[in-house]
Amino acid sequence: MKTHVIVKTHELALKGKNRPWFMRRLSENLRRATEGSGVSRVWQGQLMIGLTLEDEGCWPEVKARVRDCFGVAKFFLAYEFPQDLELIREALRQRLPGMSFRSFRMVTNRADKRFPLTSPEVNAELGRFVEELTGARVDLSNPDLSIYLDIQTRGILLYFDETPAHGGLPVGSSGRVAVMLSGGIDSPVAAWHMMKRGCPASYVHFHSYPLVDRSSIEKATELTQLLGRHQSRAELYMAPLSEIQKRVIVETPPSYRVLLYRRFMLRITEVLAQQAGAKAIVTGESCGQVSSQTLDNIAVVDKVADMPVLRPLIGMNKEEIVGMARGIGTFPISIQPDQDCCSLFVPKHPETRARLSVVERLEEGLPVADMVAESLAGVVREQIESPYKAAV
Ligand code: ATP
Ligand code: MG
Repeated sequence: MKTHVIVKTHELALKGKNRPWFMRRLSENLRRATEGSGVSRVWQGQLMIGLTLEDEGCWPEVKARVRDCFGVAKFFLAYEFPQDLELIREALRQRLPGMSFRSFRMVTNRADKRFPLTSPEVNAELGRFVEELTGARVDLSNPDLSIYLDIQTRGILLYFDETPAHGGLPVGSSGRVAVMLSGGIDSPVAAWHMMKRGCPASYVHFHSYPLVDRSSIEKATELTQLLGRHQSRAELYMAPLSEIQKRVIVETPPSYRVLLYRRFMLRITEVLAQQAGAKAIVTGESCGQVSSQTLDNIAVVDKVADMPVLRPLIGMNKEEIVGMARGIGTFPISIQPDQDCCSLFVPKHPETRARLSVVERLEEGLPVADMVAESLAGVVREQIESPYKAAV
């Protein structure tokens, strides 16, 4: 008997003539994500993707990795038998007594139409068998246990437990984004949301080394690695901000500093985004969370970029974002203390209603293009492997 992991997608997201392309993309992502974890083959069936396991012992590791693959709505551990219902009865006889349930339903899908019984006939026949074997009753709407049979040309797949995953779209099926990644809580959550919609992420981190230590760089690297569970590898651009900050401090009033830093960061990010082939920039901002995230200020910052700036967390509360960061696993890294570039030289009373004309006048006194070019010249680019890949 072979064991497989059977992966199902959300039907709606992958409908229409793009479906085969999406399924190929997802198969390839699953193949890469499970490398070295005991998957011998990845194959496509009707409305599903199968991963054949070398043995059932691989299941826990494969389960963790498949759950991280966006585009997977739910998945199952499945047993494959030749097309013979007697073998299925035998398997049920072995397994069901060890499972506790008072109601069940049979869900048969006959992909191989040459099989002599229809799906309802198989459901009726095996349903009676399970009732007699266990004393459980049939409940089609809210059963304790669903017993799935998939009749494929390769054989019959039998499976029970459903593991829910995140759904969404396979990474690589949407355009690339450049995520502005601080060491904080919000931006990794923003990256996660965009990857869930199929966007591969490149990361840009600004640091003030050597004015401060390298702790924010280390956090950004760790976060990129962790987020790599959803995308096999990613590049992280580390851009210096200290020279820009020094200059801004000397030449502009305190209340406008944060805005000026942000406009510089966005200008630099846009160039790096273009280099990376990204089509949009992503930040972890949420409306009103801090003074730089008022709509007036966001509008003034956005003026320097031609690319769309996406803010997937814009309508979320901090507690909601923290909850998600815990679920994703980035929270413990994000809360480690660091010396972040933005906490440096932060004024007591930052401007919350910036006026574009004021900002532009302040920038007229600065060699903006040279400052951007200087930071770009100091960018270090690193390829960061996913933790799964690193373990191979
Ligand atoms: P986060 O928790 O993501 O740091 P925050 O609430 O601390 O967010 P800010 O520090 O004002 O808010 O940053 C807002 C957004 O600007 C961040 O979500 C991130 O996208 C970007 N950003 C801030 N600092 C940096 C940095 N050092 N490098 C790259 N991007 C940054
Ligand atoms: Mg921050």
